[in-house]
Amino acid sequence: MADLSSTHALSSQVGGHAGVTTTEDGSLLIKPALHRELEFYQKLQRDSSLDELRAFTPKFLGTLRLEGQVDPAHADLTQGLSLVLENVSYPFLKPNILDIKLGTVLYDETASEEKVARMLKTAKETTSLETGVRLTGFQVYDNVTSLPVNTPKSYGKSIRADQLGEGIAKFFPVGTPVSAADHVDAVVDGAALSPSSGLLRETLVPILHAIREEVALIREVFSEIELRMVGGSLLVIYEADWARAEEGIKQYLADEEEEGAEEEEEEEEGEEEDDDEATAKRPGPPFVVKLIDFAHTLFAPGQGPDQGVLLGMDTVLKLLDARLKEITTS
Ligand code: ADP
Ligand code: MN
Repeated sequence: MADLSSTHALSSQVGGHAGVTTTEDGSLLIKPALHRELEFYQKLQRDSSLDELRAFTPKFLGTLRLEGQVDPAHADLTQGLSLVLENVSYPFLKPNILDIKLGTVLYDETASEEKVARMLKTAKETTSLETGVRLTGFQVYDNVTSLPVNTPKSYGKSIRADQLGEGIAKFFPVGTPVSAADHVDAVVDGAALSPSSGLLRETLVPILHAIREEVALIREVFSEIELRMVGGSLLVIYEADWARAEEGIKQYLADEEEEGAEEEEEEEEGEEEDDDEATAKRPGPPFVVKLIDFAHTLFAPGQGPDQGVLLGMDTVLKLLDARLKEITTS
């Protein structure tokens, strides 16, 4: 059981504001609660029509009241109250993490005139308005140093739409077996990535493909839900440890195949399968894709799905397809 009494800053945070912390063991996240995010997660728990969407969000474990943390500067902050969420990067040995901000509209109806003007300008000057995405930030493990290399949000803000593919290539580099000479070139700071980052092609391709399918599923579910998601993100994580990633994706594909077979069997047998021996020694997941950050998300009955976010998801699908093509034909 995670100890909630002692927390520290989330070291693998690739975007957003300061204030996200983890429990000592790293399994849970503590995030200051804004009214809308709290309402969103609470509705997600009660409303069974949102079951499919809930599967693509971090598990919500409840709220926590921190003593003596009153911040009068933030009126929409529910004073001292925090959300307790599953840290979805926890099961990974070396998580490569990408935060993609979704949507073309970056302000909600509570924003001041000044903020609306500022956010319109930001959307127009970045990739957001045209493509519905902005690369908020990412971390990629270096194979030589075994340390994560961070690319800050200034990078994603500076690129044009036609450079998004380069950004995605930086997040999904193809690795080559490391030689001693690589040590000399290892770069550990800024946006530069050492050429020694990346999974081997034969591991990366099926992982990329599975991530693509997951995003397509999320898009399908999202297109059926009437809400406005402002400033939310798609969080994409995959395992950078070669052995773990390889074992993980093999297990994932085997599980998928078994699920497919079971669905066919179920009609005949109607019996529950026991997979106890299978779950005992499972490797960590090879990847995870979640929707996060609902601080400015509102349900919008009767208004249809969020078209700007759907555009963003379509952009992500195109970028993943293009990267897959690059890797498999190079
Ligand atoms: P903010 O409102 O500050 O943008 P976010 O909810 O977007 O807050 O979180 C900021 C960052 O923290 C994300 O970019 C991501 O790196 C990390 N993060 C957020 N939620 C999770 C989670 N459930 N599991 C793992 N990492 C998370
Ligand atoms: Mn965020």
